[in-house]
Amino acid sequence: MKFNFGAGPCILPQEVFKQASQAVLNFNDTGLSILEISHRAPEFEAVVEEATRLVKELLNVPDGYSVLFLQGGASLQFSMVPANLLGEGQTAAYLDSGAWSSKALKEAKLYGNVNVVASSKEANYTYIPKTYEIPADAAYFHITSNNTIFGTELFEFPKSPVPLVSDMSSDIFSREINVADFGLIYAGAQKNMGPAGVTLVIIKDELFGKSGKKLPSMLDYKVQADNKSLYNTPPVFAIYTSLLNLRWLKSKGGVAQMEKENIAKAAALYEEIDRNPLFKGTCAGEDRSRMNVCFVMENPELEKPFLKFAEERGMVGIKGHRSVGGFRASIYNALPITSIHALVEAMQEFAEKHA
Ligand code: PMP
Repeated sequence: MKFNFGAGPCILPQEVFKQASQAVLNFNDTGLSILEISHRAPEFEAVVEEATRLVKELLNVPDGYSVLFLQGGASLQFSMVPANLLGEGQTAAYLDSGAWSSKALKEAKLYGNVNVVASSKEANYTYIPKTYEIPADAAYFHITSNNTIFGTELFEFPKSPVPLVSDMSSDIFSREINVADFGLIYAGAQKNMGPAGVTLVIIKDELFGKSGKKLPSMLDYKVQADNKSLYNTPPVFAIYTSLLNLRWLKSKGGVAQMEKENIAKAAALYEEIDRNPLFKGTCAGEDRSRMNVCFVMENPELEKPFLKFAEERGMVGIKGHRSVGGFRASIYNALPITSIHALVEAMQEFAEKHA
């Protein structure tokens, strides 16, 4: 039995894996594999349509927004956002709350001026800065709603006078959001949406062409939207598997239900981290992520032995990112609370042995 706490690619529901593997052999009783049908076939167009519809339904996407399935990962969005939204001579505002924010703003600098309104870099990103001003003349304001590496999450979105853009790679579909508060949301799929290889973008249509720049077709949101994410050959298997996962999400009660379960899962793990004298959390209490739980040991010499101890019990993917050290348990939607219980038990047993 494995307990997969990987940060992404990560655990997806077993039934999604089963259905996806079935479709590799025989997709919807067509006698053909999902991997061999044309992306222009009506059967595949139906996949994109249903996936789009489910994203809109699960996140309550209002009219006037487009849902796109793109390639290039969230990392390409670091460039596509400024390419499409940042006009000549304009400034984009960024909140620097972690490694991914920092990469995003680095790319934006290739397209125009960047104003970093606040940063928690000096504290190794252990908290999310909250006092700053968003310039009213910025082209947009970019945030990272969940910092996968450092384990902090933005629970209260800033009221922005300019379009709010959020990288939601690691918390999309994990909690309810009000899409109308955002101009653009993007997320690499490989956490709560599906497998790696597809990137979700939800964009307010009025932002199309905002930079006024001529763009390569592949990098132009308007071209992608006009072509319903089928401008070129899309990542068919990643989109199909995402659809299966979105169906699973709906069948489990949708995002509101996931949020409830994620709150309970995170609380159970943080409670043990705070209670167990061997362990301690790395982030400011109020910013602790419900998706990526980062913790270290009071005695760093015990970290290697604990890792081995946990791995022997089937825990996978709990080693912390090198920039934080210690441990990171990623507890996405598909991770059952029983896996949290198994990790908590391992922490307790280890503590008894090393008391
Ligand atoms: N942003 C965040 C918040 C992430 O967690 C990641 C990857 N884990 C990325 C961006 C980069 O995503 P990708 O690998 O899809 O480019």
